[in-house]
Amino acid sequence: MSSYKTKAIILKSYNLGEADKILKLFSNENGLVDAVAKGARKIKSKFGGRLEVFNFLELELSKGRNLDVICQAELIKNFCRIPEDFNTFLFSQHICEIVLKTHFSCTDITPMIFRLLYSCLSEFNCVIGGNLHNLQKITVFFIAKFLKITGYPPLMHACCICGKDINAGFYKTGFPTFSINHNENISDVKKQLSFKDDIYKGSFYFSIRLGGFFCGECEPGIQNIPDLKKNISLETVIFLGFLFNAKFKIYMNAAINDRLLKGVFKTLEDYLKYHYDLNLNTGTYIKSIV
Ligand SMILES: [Zn+2]
Repeated sequence: MSSYKTKAIILKSYNLGEADKILKLFSNENGLVDAVAKGARKIKSKFGGRLEVFNFLELELSKGRNLDVICQAELIKNFCRIPEDFNTFLFSQHICEIVLKTHFSCTDITPMIFRLLYSCLSEFNCVIGGNLHNLQKITVFFIAKFLKITGYPPLMHACCICGKDINAGFYKTGFPTFSINHNENISDVKKQLSFKDDIYKGSFYFSIRLGGFFCGECEPGIQNIPDLKKNISLETVIFLGFLFNAKFKIYMNAAINDRLLKGVFKTLEDYLKYHYDLNLNTGTYIKSIV
């Protein structure tokens, strides 16, 4: 059996037989890996308590037919505060489930997903008292960047039906430096971002199924689409632009109002599930508490 070393985060674990554990890993170098840790549940296991969910490990594995076998595991970092709070644990599990169920084999985007997962778990580990606003804020960032990295972000700069440029100034003004939280006058913001009112006819339209925003000219012809969202607030449009372009630290430092965050959280959850055809076990409970 050939062996290899890798750095990985444990996404999920199952008990196998009397003493073994099956681990679903996300490796920086190899993407998703299914592995078995023999004897991991014995009191005197050589792995100690290192093989817990969310732990970031340096592993030595040998290739197996179905499951790779963990030979050695060194702990790089544990996110030990996550399991202390049920909601924090659940949201952390949620993003792990997204990575697990989208089944990414190893590609050049694997390290980017790994960094995103690591950063978000680190941030979850710092959430105090299972604060739902912060848990949603981190998850919203995770989903937005995950969609962007994997090539399925909603189309925001052009109409997703006719392809017409909706707003040439949309990205050029630099959303990461633009904050919607400084009580700017909304019409000044509109001017600053040079929104084309004639195309929008004063409104923004969005459809999960169509994959993004569309223009006012196309809107009359598509009244019957089931998930058509009319009159999306300008605040939401600006927030989405900011979210998809902002660096994590800048995003986490921005104060975002709870109503706006909740709306975007639900939309992005639905968008992700629709486009990846995902059925997430953690999704139903999360929806019931936010
Ligand atoms: Zn159009």
